[in-house]
Amino acid sequence: MDKNQALTLLEHAKQVASNAYAPYSKFKVGASILFKDNSTVQGCNVENASYGLTLCAERNALSTAISFGKNKEDILAIAIYSPNTNKCFPCGACRQWIAEFSQDIQVIVENNGDNALIYTINDLLPYFFYLDK
Ligand SMILES: [Zn+2]
Repeated sequence: MDKNQALTLLEHAKQVASNAYAPYSKFKVGASILFKDNSTVQGCNVENASYGLTLCAERNALSTAISFGKNKEDILAIAIYSPNTNKCFPCGACRQWIAEFSQDIQVIVENNGDNALIYTINDLLPYFFYLDK
């Protein structure tokens, strides 16, 4: 993942953030997932009057990807953007969701508008929960 790819993916996340349904917090978030075939899937946050039912952009994008028949092995990266904050990192629940699919997924956040910071989900959640079968 080079910087230009990361910034392009962040741009997709930025676009979908404008669709966020965030009447309560006003905190809009967009996420865009990049797959090995160069396709992308986006999601935005969707809030609910019962706050705990709110769906984050990252989990929305991952759910949409699975619904579209995407394979978890093909996920390369997820970019997360919010117009409300610099460096919009995924919350703990979303880190667990991302880690479910691969520890190698790159997580991209915007830094100061024109810079992308790239981590792996393993950087952000090294001891994720999994079922040892
Ligand atoms: Zn989240």
